[in-house]
Amino acid sequence: MLPVVYHPIYSDFPIPDGHRYPLSKYRLLKEHLIDNNWPVVEHRPERLESAQLKAIHDPEYVDALLSGTIPLVKMRRIGFPWSDALLQRSLTSLGGTTLTVDLALAHGVAIHLTGGYHHSHYDFGGGFCLFNDLVLAAQHALAYPHIDKVLIVDCDVHHGDGTASLTAERDDIITLSVHCEKNFPSRKPDSTIDLPLPIGTDSESYLHAFLPCLKLALAQHQPDMVIYDAGVDIHIDDELGYLSVCHEGIAKRDAAVFDACADHQIPVAAVIGGGYRTDHAQLVPLHAELVRAAINTYYPTTWNETNE
Ligand SMILES: [Zn+2]
Repeated sequence: MLPVVYHPIYSDFPIPDGHRYPLSKYRLLKEHLIDNNWPVVEHRPERLESAQLKAIHDPEYVDALLSGTIPLVKMRRIGFPWSDALLQRSLTSLGGTTLTVDLALAHGVAIHLTGGYHHSHYDFGGGFCLFNDLVLAAQHALAYPHIDKVLIVDCDVHHGDGTASLTAERDDIITLSVHCEKNFPSRKPDSTIDLPLPIGTDSESYLHAFLPCLKLALAQHQPDMVIYDAGVDIHIDDELGYLSVCHEGIAKRDAAVFDACADHQIPVAAVIGGGYRTDHAQLVPLHAELVRAAINTYYPTTWNETNE
């Protein structure tokens, strides 16, 4: 059965009323999988330690966030008020992405039911991202003796600016960002490969642009592991995305990523990434496509008649 990583804290920390962050979607997604008897095994992460954070982030930035002494202006850029609960949630979800790497290396695939904090840079965060779980997880993967190169495939509608800047000088972490060219963040430092798409790009054009790019990245860089950010804010109805990809297009994208990695026998750790609707429940079927695609590729015989 497919390993999935989840902790109740993901949907349980205080944010102001009316905040954009889709707080309940993590719990709703997990309940959807369990209530409908999907063939998944739940794993619960531990918090990441500060020493691991300081391997990629500025130690002063890490200490300021851990102690709550971070300047207000920096928290405003992140988009949350500082609280110990927020910090614990963040550390737990970072541990979740590294656990997802461990599980993917053991089983070939694993999915984290949150994650994708790609706007976090060396010494500042942004766009709801405190620390960069994707780079932390890549760093974690590289500690395995047989992992020399990690490819981060970032399909969130927003550019992976923090991931790009944190890995700019490295050749052991390759970054591919597929994003809307006219969307947050305004400054987009170069990823290894950037695929900017115009506003309104539909499913057909999206897949036509992305799939050859993915195949080229796999062939050219021959990574030992893929970390996949499967943001669904590329959907036409997303409130923070300006692309026009439909539900079926998201399903095809996720299936294509797993199929390509399975073809090359490259383990994949996937995170659900962004997805923004006032009604969080509407995001669940979109994020569930990632889980469905992984089951279809890696555990096709585990579906049974009780699944929805
Ligand atoms: Zn996003």
